[in-house]
Amino acid sequence: MKEKKKRRRPKRTNRPKKPNVFYETPRRAWGRRNRLRNLGVKAELTLQQWKDILILWDNKCAYCDVELVYSRRYHKHRATEEHVIPTSDPRCTDTPDNIVPACADCNSSKKNRDLREWLDNDERYERVMEVLHG
Ligand SMILES: [Zn+2]
Repeated sequence: MKEKKKRRRPKRTNRPKKPNVFYETPRRAWGRRNRLRNLGVKAELTLQQWKDILILWDNKCAYCDVELVYSRRYHKHRATEEHVIPTSDPRCTDTPDNIVPACADCNSSKKNRDLREWLDNDERYERVMEVLHG
């Protein structure tokens, strides 16, 4: 009796996970640059600076402390670069002293509001200011 040949599939579970923790492709960087330029902000943050910021914040959202997720798709807790002085403000800069990591949820909740206004001066505001400006 001829045995049916088993089709071998690559074992998904054994495949090493893509190190997409700080995933950035030239295309994404390009998109980011364009998006910011359209908002009138010069893109300056380097990938290395962004990594440093994430380490500084222990990979957590600066506002709600949730563990950040790295995904190319939308995820509630996806890590986003949050501009403390909003991009709608002419004083906004794309530099480490104006960027904190925030989950997509917080970032969309804050929108273009000023941080002080959004957090209503609670302890989170103090903490962000302390980390950013020492
Ligand atoms: Zn958050």
